[in-house]
Amino acid sequence: MTHPAPPLAALFELTHRCPLQCAYCSNPLALTPPAQELTTAQWQDAIRQLQALGVLQVHFSGGEPAARNDLETLVETAHRSDLYTNLITSGVTLKEARIDRLAGAGLDHIQLSIQDTDEAQADAMAGVKGALARKAAAARAIRAAGLPLTVNCVIQRRNVARVAAMIDWALEAGARRIEIAHVQYYGWAIPNRAALLPPREAVDRALAVIEDARERLKGIIAIDHVIPDYYAARPKACMGGWGRQFLVIDPAGDVLPCHAAKTIPDLRFDNVRQRDLASIWNEGEAFQRFRGTAWMPQPCRSCERKEVDWGGCRCQALKIAGNAAATDPACALSPAHARLQALAGVTDLAPSPLLYRRYI
Ligand code: SF4
Ligand code: SF4
Repeated sequence: MTHPAPPLAALFELTHRCPLQCAYCSNPLALTPPAQELTTAQWQDAIRQLQALGVLQVHFSGGEPAARNDLETLVETAHRSDLYTNLITSGVTLKEARIDRLAGAGLDHIQLSIQDTDEAQADAMAGVKGALARKAAAARAIRAAGLPLTVNCVIQRRNVARVAAMIDWALEAGARRIEIAHVQYYGWAIPNRAALLPPREAVDRALAVIEDARERLKGIIAIDHVIPDYYAARPKACMGGWGRQFLVIDPAGDVLPCHAAKTIPDLRFDNVRQRDLASIWNEGEAFQRFRGTAWMPQPCRSCERKEVDWGGCRCQALKIAGNAAATDPACALSPAHARLQALAGVTDLAPSPLLYRRYI
């Protein structure tokens, strides 16, 4: 049996605990309770297996990864295993001393997320007060520790007009890169979709601001931006293609081809407590199901882009087309594209109260 190339990177969802409650959080509605999280030794074992598999990067995420007291130990283990280490954090609990310890443990890079540059709106989206000021303080400490910083902004209806202010915030914070990503409609974003989806015109205006800033700030800050699926004509290569570049380990140790894969009900996931990572990656049922192109229906099967976008997102295909093995409805060639476009038109002009992410 020929094995696939090893993954480029692994995303560790260390915990679902988080001090914020963002209404667009992509974590599942059924959050993993702390008692079910992998132990330090189990995460360390996973890191060593990744090294043996030939993985190059590990991204520590969550929830809020800093909620784990062993974060420094895990960063150090990954660093000693020659893995590039990236921390994806809300930053609200990260104080100077902890950032220094993480830098000392060998952390290579931090991605700090902001909800908005308007404090009241940031509070309203995160469901807690005063997060933005704490993020600004964390950004200063990150730069003081000499760590490269990327600022992540999640765009939705209530902040889409402030893209320019977000770029300014990232510049002020000393970031080398800003990632402007539209909400992905998984997890908690689904019940909040009508309140979060910006209208097309607002997305187009934001795009013009981004294009202008890209030109103006060339060599100063890199600006990444992806057109939101609901207004796209072709899908993105979700996770670089299913089972091609990434694996995700959730807090309880289930190994997933993407962080939303558990929304596909008939997929069976292996767990690092029971099976080694190499065998999960090479032969695990969940990874095999949509790897490559053999599973593809028409129009993907005979499409020249099939090894470019790999048919797009399986979770979105299930959500919108009702079939995880269908062409991603973000593609204009998909028979379900009109359904996605119809949903894009359903924005809540008098937004209903947000459903906040929490343990339920
Ligand atoms: S999106 Fe918000 S609630 Fe979800 S993990 Fe990130 S900071 Fe926490
Ligand atoms: S038909 Fe399939 S492979 Fe072709 S562009 Fe659309 S999603 Fe991609």
